[in-house]
This record gives sequence, structure tokens and C-alpha cells, in this order.
Amino acid sequence: MDYKKIIYKSFRVTEQLKDRGQLATYIPELARVDPSMFGVHMITMDGKHYGLGDHQQKFSIQSIAKVLSLTLAYHLLGEKIWKRLGVEPSGTKFDSLILLETFEGIPRNPFVNSGALVICDILISELDDAPAEFLNFVRELSGLSTLSYSDHIADSEKATGYRNIAMCNFIKSFGNIDNEPEEVLDFYFDLCSLELNCEQVAKTFGYLANGGCKINDGKRVITKSQAKRLNALMLTCGFYDESGEFAFKVGLPGKSGVGGGIVAVYPNNYSIAVWSPGLNKKGNSYIGMKFLEELTTHSELSIF
Ligand code: GLN
Repeated sequence: MDYKKIIYKSFRVTEQLKDRGQLATYIPELARVDPSMFGVHMITMDGKHYGLGDHQQKFSIQSIAKVLSLTLAYHLLGEKIWKRLGVEPSGTKFDSLILLETFEGIPRNPFVNSGALVICDILISELDDAPAEFLNFVRELSGLSTLSYSDHIADSEKATGYRNIAMCNFIKSFGNIDNEPEEVLDFYFDLCSLELNCEQVAKTFGYLANGGCKINDGKRVITKSQAKRLNALMLTCGFYDESGEFAFKVGLPGKSGVGGGIVAVYPNNYSIAVWSPGLNKKGNSYIGMKFLEELTTHSELSIF
């Protein structure tokens, strides 16, 4: 497969689109990003790299990091975690509170904010210093030994994080948060603040394209079955109430963030990251989704 040619073609087509969506302004730091940024980077199973545009520019990965915290919790505790949250698409926006009332504080899945908050709570209970140990876990996956949380982004989100603060307290009222909401929220804002470029994101998520093992050194991160399940969750829940649309148009497991990044994997073939900060109405990268649609259309390869 000539991925180089296909990526180039998909990039050129997408780049010309006039509408690029809107920046996420509810986190003030994200509103300051240059909306014209657009980068993509693919890493194949045999170690080939294809990068275009602003693929070396760091961006706030936001909810993409929820896959990594889930991976660590799943690795540490196994199937027990599913007592605290579901594996069903929510059909709601990422920050919706509606279904928490219906399901008595059990989030529908780990990728809506409520689910990610419960995962943070699980990690805080399980680890001596969850923020530090999670950071080390991401350093190991990404190979970036000096990676740190971005305080300016975390502080910016915290200062305006009224919905997440309400949500965490609401879940606690049902007994599904064990630690103090303030501690859980601080960790959540930290993990959302991580900044990586497209190449680093594609590398970090290589284990999901490679049956649970890192691509570069083959080191196992999670079991093959766990990797299958995480990919299933990304396919069904990775884009909130647009997950069906992403499966329909792109056909790959993926995860978006309000920083405008998307990671997607084609198991046994490649891991790819795309970034363009303008979002569509569902909070997913507007041209990032279009690019991936072009890519799987031209390559005629998807999981289906
Ligand atoms: N930090 C963001 C929030 O909690 C993450 C949301 C996202 O990326 N979809 O609102």
C-alpha cells in the first residue's frame, strides 16, 4: 500500500476546505491556538513514518489522554473496573450530566468526562501518587522522558471547569467517587493538559495497533484481549455522539480531544494522529475527521 501517496492526496484535498470549524473557547488557553494549524503523522507496523503539515507542532491532547488513563487502570485492575462504569455509547456530548441521574452515578463509558473522572478516582485509590505514576506511564509509552503536564492549560481549564466540578460532585453523591472531588479533578485537568505533537501521539498509541505491544520495542503494555476491547470502545464511544458517524465514514477505532487532535488505529497496520484545532458542533476536529475519511476512502482499508 502506497500510504505516502494516499496521505498526501488526502491532506491536499482536506487542506483546501474553507470551513475549519470553531476553536474550543470554554477553555481559555485553547482559544489562543492558531486555527490554521493542520498536521498529520502515520506510523506503520514496519516502522515507516509519514508526516505532513504541522505534525511537529505540539497541541493539547485533551480527551485523547482518557485512553491512556483507562489503559493504565485496566492494566492494573483488569475487569473489576467495569463495576464502576459502562461500555455503552452515551449518545450525548462529552460533558453531559443527563445520564448520570438515570444510571445513578455510573458513567456510560470511560470516554465521556464522567467516565474519565471515575477512572481518575480509581487510579488515585490504587496508586501512591497517581499524577506522577500516570505521567511516567505516558513517558514510557511516548519515549519522552521529560514530558510534563502543562500547568497553564490545566489551570486555565480548572478556572472555568464548572461543569466538570459539578459532575464530579454529582457522581460522588451517588457513591461512585471515593476520593475528594478536588483531588480527582486536579488529576483529570492534569491529564487533559498533556501536550504532544502528531508524531508523538501516533507513537504513544502504537500499542493499540499492535495487539497491546509497543511498536518500537515490542514491549507488552496490555493483553491482546484488552487491546481489542479498548479498540472496540474507541470505535463505539471515542467521538461521543458522533461515534456512529466516525465509524460510518472512517471505519477505524479512534479518539478525539477538544484541542482538535484525533488518534486512530488500523490494527496490525498503522497508528495515525491528525490535528486541526477547529471543531465541529459535536466537539471533534472538523477537518481532522474529513482527512481520515479521505484516507480510508482512498486506501479502501478500514476494519470493515
Ligand atoms: N478537558 C476537556 C473537558 O473536560 C476534555 C474534553 C474533550 O477533549 N472532549 O471538557
